[in-house]
Amino acid sequence: MHTRKVYIETYGCQMNLADTELLVGVLKPHGYEPTQVAAQADVILLNTCAIREHAEEKVLRRLGELVHHKARRPSVRLGLTGCMAQHHREKLLNKAPFLDLILGPDAYRTLPTLLVQEDRDEPLVAVRLDREETYADMSPVRGEGIRAWVTAMRGCDKFCTFCIVPYVRGRERSVPLNALLDQVRALAHQGYKEVVYLGQTVNAYRDGDYDFADLLRQTAEIDGIERIRFTSPHPSDMSERLIEAMATCAKVAPYLHLPLQTASNRVLERMERGYTVEQYAALVERLRAAIPGLALSTDIIVGFPGEEEADFRATYDFMAELRYDSAFMFKYSAREGTKAYKWDETLSEEEKGLRLQAIIALQERISGEINRQSVGQTVEVLIEGPAKRQEGWLAGKSRQFKTVVFPGNGARLGELVPARVVSATAHTLVGQVANKAIGYRDFLPLSL
Ligand code: SAM
Ligand code: SF4
Repeated sequence: MHTRKVYIETYGCQMNLADTELLVGVLKPHGYEPTQVAAQADVILLNTCAIREHAEEKVLRRLGELVHHKARRPSVRLGLTGCMAQHHREKLLNKAPFLDLILGPDAYRTLPTLLVQEDRDEPLVAVRLDREETYADMSPVRGEGIRAWVTAMRGCDKFCTFCIVPYVRGRERSVPLNALLDQVRALAHQGYKEVVYLGQTVNAYRDGDYDFADLLRQTAEIDGIERIRFTSPHPSDMSERLIEAMATCAKVAPYLHLPLQTASNRVLERMERGYTVEQYAALVERLRAAIPGLALSTDIIVGFPGEEEADFRATYDFMAELRYDSAFMFKYSAREGTKAYKWDETLSEEEKGLRLQAIIALQERISGEINRQSVGQTVEVLIEGPAKRQEGWLAGKSRQFKTVVFPGNGARLGELVPARVVSATAHTLVGQVANKAIGYRDFLPLSL
C-alpha cells in the first residue's frame, strides 16, 4: 500500500489530544503515517476546541498560515476536526471555503472515506452527533511515554449555562467496561505505567450496573499499571463509593481535579452547576478526611454575566481558605448557542482581566507555600524523561501529580524512585535521588 503522511495539530483539552491519537488510529489501516512536518504531509488536520473564543481565533489564524501548503501542492487535503468544526460549520464554510473537510467529534470513522473523494469546490461536512458512538472498537495510536490517556466516556448531559461542550460533543455515553479493561491490559503489556481516564464528567461513567468506582477498582487489579488518575470529575457525581475506591486502591493517585467555577451561590445557580458552595466544601472535607495527602486542583471562571464584586470576593476568599494545590483560571467567554450567551455581559474585558490577575496571584502564592511545605519530605516519582530546562536532569510526577526534577541518577523512563525534596517553586519540586552507583549526591538546589 502506498504510504501517505498525515500532520495533525491539536488544540484544547486532553480529550482532544486523545481524539488525535484516535484519528491516527482510524487512518493507519488505510496507509497513513503521522508526520511532525506539515510540508511533508498529504493530509493536514487541525483538531480544534470551541470552549473559549480565544481558542477559535488561534485556529483561524493558523488555518490562514497552513493554506499555503495547498497552494503549493494542490493534492494536499486540509481539514478541520473536533469541537469547532461542530460549532461553526456554517461560519467556516464562509470564512475558510478552501477547507476540504469539516468533521465533528462523532464522525471520525468517516475520515478515510472522505479523504478518497474527488476534490470539490466546497468542503465535505460530517457533523452528525451520534448517541451511540464511543469508538470502543478503535485503537488509538499513542505517542511514546509512560502515561496513557484513555477516553472512558464522551459527551455531557449537564448543560451548564456557560458551556458549549454538550452542543458540540453531544450526549453522555460510556465505553463498555470490558473494552476499557482490555485496552488497559494491552497498554500495561506495551509498558505504560500510568492510565488517566478521560471524560467531560468522567465520574458519571456507567456501564449497566458498573459505575466509575468499579472501573477504578478493576483497573487497579491490572499488573504493570502503577498509577491511575482521571479527569474531570463533576462535584455532583462524586459518590461515597467513588471516594471509598480512591481511598482504598493504593494505585489510585491522591490527586483530584474538582472544578468549582465560582464560590458564589447566586452565580453557581445561574451557571446551573447543580451544587452549592457549602455542598462543595463538605465534599472536599470528606475527600480530605478519607484520602490523606490529597492534592486538589480546580477550574475557576471570573466575570460570568451578573458577577458582582461580592460574588468575586466570595470566590477569592474561598480559594484562600480551601487552598488548592493548583488551579486553571479563565475569563468568561460568551459562547453562541449556550443559555448564558443571551445574557448581557456586565463586566468589561479589563475588569475581568483584573479579577483574573487577582486570583492568579493568590493561587501562585498558595501553590508555592504548599509546595515548599514538602521540602525535606520524600516523594515517589514516576520518571517521564529528561527535564526540560536542566541538561542531565530527569523529570517525573509525584503521586500528587506535582512535577519533580532531579539530577539524573542512572534511573530510566518508567521507573518509580523516591526523591527527597530539597526546594520548591509554585510549579516544580526539586528533588534529590539516591544515585545507583554512588548514593546521594550533593548539589546546589536550583532556583527555577
Ligand atoms: N466538565 C468539566 C466540569 O464541568 O467540571 C469541565 C470541562 S470544560 C471543557 C473545562 C473548563 O473550561 C470548565 O471547567 C470551565 O472552567 C472552562 N469553561 C467552559 N466554558 C467556558 C466559557 N464559556 N468561558 C470560560 N471558561 C469556560
Ligand atoms: Fe461543560 Fe458543565 Fe458539562 Fe463540564 S459539566 S462539560 S462545564 S456542561
